[in-house]
Amino acid sequence: MSKIFEKKNQFVKLLLNWWTSNKREFPWRSTKDPYSILIAEMLLRKTTAKQVEKIYTQFLTKYPDPNSLADADKNELEELLKPLGMEYKRAELLKKFGLYIKENYDGKIPLELKKLLKLPGIGMYAANAVLSFVCSKDVPLLDTNFIRVINRVFGIKSQKSRARDDKKIWEFAQTLIPSNNSKNFNLAVLDFAALICKAKKPKCSECPVKNICFYYAKEGININNTAVFGFVSFLFNLILLYLKSL
Ligand code: SF4
Repeated sequence: MSKIFEKKNQFVKLLLNWWTSNKREFPWRSTKDPYSILIAEMLLRKTTAKQVEKIYTQFLTKYPDPNSLADADKNELEELLKPLGMEYKRAELLKKFGLYIKENYDGKIPLELKKLLKLPGIGMYAANAVLSFVCSKDVPLLDTNFIRVINRVFGIKSQKSRARDDKKIWEFAQTLIPSNNSKNFNLAVLDFAALICKAKKPKCSECPVKNICFYYAKEGININNTAVFGFVSFLFNLILLYLKSL
């Protein structure tokens, strides 16, 4: 077994194991309805999951399918989207999305990659979310977070200005997907990137994959030194305070 193959296997195993007790719950994670999944993916752009959580159920109650979204009153739609910001742009795109499905697919979301990619506002990430979560296809949900994890753990960096468009990174991500378990794995990567391997200040000391991480092996000494230095200066300040109080 090659070293990289072994490392990929270890990564998947450690990550899924960590995720069993660290997963985050969101209403859009428990559905298998492709429309609800695509709506979540569209709402989640340029805002936080916490904000989307506030309006998601209300949104689906008011617009439960593509046809109701196509017929939506634009002002009402904008009003509902206000907590997420950019409500004008969002409302316009969502209505376009609803109309396209109403006119081309009789109000039903198509479940083929080619057709999904033609829907207004739907890119590879959202299309794969449907294929992974609804159709159980072994496909990755590659975004900047997944790319960061690949970069740090495996030391693989894209040469393209937009790594999300890099075919090689997509192919690498694809090789990580465990067969028949893509949904759990994709969600585990999302949670891991949000809670541990964060863009700024990754929590390396509590990371489940630190022993196989390229970045940690390279930066480990510095990370550990910073932690030790922080602890020593904390102790020093404590002693100073004590001495002053005498
Ligand atoms: Fe990310 Fe640090 Fe874990 Fe490496 S050790 S995967 S950089 S959190």
